[in-house]
Amino acid sequence: MRMSMMLMPTLREIPAEAEVISHQLMVRAGIIRKVASGMYSYLPLGRRVIEKVEKIIREEMNAKGGQEVLMPIVQPSEIWKETGRWDVYGDEMFKLKDRHGREFCLGPTHEELITDLVRQEVKSYRQLPLLLYQIQNKYRDEIRPRFGVMRSREFIMKDLYSFDCDEAGLDASYEKMYDAYNRIFQRCGLVYRAVEADSGAIGGSGSHEFMVTADNGEAEIAYCPACQYAANTEKAEGNPSDEGQPAAKNAAMEKVHTPGMRTIEDVSNYLKVNAKDIIKMVVYEAVYSEKAEIVAVLIRGDQEINEIKLKNYLDCLHLVMASDDVIVAAAKTSGGFVGPVGLTGVRLIADKTAAAMGEGITGANEADYHFRHVVPGRDFIIGETADLRTVKAGDACPHCGKALEITRGIEVGHIFKLGTKYSESLKAVFLDENGKEKKMIMGCYGIGVTRTIAAAIEQNHDENGIIWPVPIAPYPVIIVPISSKDEVQMKKAQELYDRLNSMGIETILDDRNERPGVKFKDADLIGIPLRITVGKKAADDDLYELKVRSNGEDHLLGLEDLLLTIKKVLEPIG
Ligand code: ATP
Ligand code: MG
Repeated sequence: MRMSMMLMPTLREIPAEAEVISHQLMVRAGIIRKVASGMYSYLPLGRRVIEKVEKIIREEMNAKGGQEVLMPIVQPSEIWKETGRWDVYGDEMFKLKDRHGREFCLGPTHEELITDLVRQEVKSYRQLPLLLYQIQNKYRDEIRPRFGVMRSREFIMKDLYSFDCDEAGLDASYEKMYDAYNRIFQRCGLVYRAVEADSGAIGGSGSHEFMVTADNGEAEIAYCPACQYAANTEKAEGNPSDEGQPAAKNAAMEKVHTPGMRTIEDVSNYLKVNAKDIIKMVVYEAVYSEKAEIVAVLIRGDQEINEIKLKNYLDCLHLVMASDDVIVAAAKTSGGFVGPVGLTGVRLIADKTAAAMGEGITGANEADYHFRHVVPGRDFIIGETADLRTVKAGDACPHCGKALEITRGIEVGHIFKLGTKYSESLKAVFLDENGKEKKMIMGCYGIGVTRTIAAAIEQNHDENGIIWPVPIAPYPVIIVPISSKDEVQMKKAQELYDRLNSMGIETILDDRNERPGVKFKDADLIGIPLRITVGKKAADDDLYELKVRSNGEDHLLGLEDLLLTIKKVLEPIG
């Protein structure tokens, strides 16, 4: 492609609204332009990168027996009502009506539609397993669209759905996708981690997220440097490194005056104890489809409650902190001094750290008073115990006991064992070899194509711009003639350009009438992996300067050596 003909509006200034580097560089390199909040146009360079990533994904999906389909973006409400998700999905779903008043949504995901298709077309075990996928726009009216295409309202996703006869089949499909995802992110040239993920209320161990490690990542990953354990902190388990829980003293419970001391910090300062000597209680309102419930959670005072674990444990739709009024009404006490002793009208759940305490300090359910020497199990009944705490760096790994570390990542892919969640509500059944009707066992597997691109930039850039990993670069090679007025240089550059094109190497020829400095700056900013400079040495001695964007290496090479070197660098990975 001749640069003079390209739409590649590069910018020198950092766009004001772009908080993270990938967003800034995508705008500056002329890859995206904003249309509305969370909605972007992809300019020619951006479109090319999408195509590269999609090609890798397609090849790996097809290699595992995946078959590509294409379903509508606009989806009728009826099918969503059948699974109950029309209401549950909430404000994230874009809804619309046609001229007859029929309701539709813009697909945020396609479990409903694909299951509807398969339940109509598949009747026998002979037609299973099936792996069906598509690559297509998804729509989610995110509460906080941000970081450019990283969290946008319209984005491209590859979504594959597996249909199997039994759990063993699902395990095999899942294993295939796990392997394919590893290959995809490796082939894209990314540093990533597969981590155990929160699988929501559906339960089971069957969910992994693929995280591109990046300081700006929204997700937190706990991982063990000693063994293979890695999990999203939304679900990660660990044991507090500090075992200093107070031993049971068998002292009688005693009421102490703590005027105005509402927080853990207040109480620990006032009573001169450590936060871990306090039994913290947090009261929530758990909302279910039919009812709401007041839930009090106990945890050791120096620990934090993980609300995602709690929500999954309760299997509720959402959780809100109970207001003082609600607490007072339910427990007949005043907020801020609540505690488990004598508590009624509230479901009480102890995190393992609270249940393990020998004794502790708790609110006395009376304004300005606490109890001390409260012994769990003696002074109040622990009905339920669960793991509800947020892991911390330094916790003991649940597998090997070594200290966990915490890092940040960008979730680019998510694979998930669904089981019969959708085949049950949508009655997707088949006849097994004995003629018995069975529900299909499903899995779903998503990759955010556009988020992957942002993540790639987040991980591969320097102060001059993007450094595309070779496999997803919009063009792997750019030729920069030093002087567009020098006829010999331009002729050499043109010949080289023709040669590379004939070898099937996608190349940009910067034929603009610009100063070399401008051309070099743009080449760096748009991140082309290999730059060939055609200057005086090329005109006189047929020598070309090859510069590698990723490490800044320079080579001065004759034409044939140059072509050989380029071919070698561009050899596909994996
Ligand atoms: P998140 O927790 O980041 O909102 P999610 O769990 O909602 O993600 P999935 O429903 O599993 O995401 O979607 C599969 C993939 O689609 C994600 O791994 C991510 O790469 C991508 N994705 C999800 N939401 C967005 C978005 N708003 N913008 C861009 N990509 C997205
Ligand atoms: Mg989401």
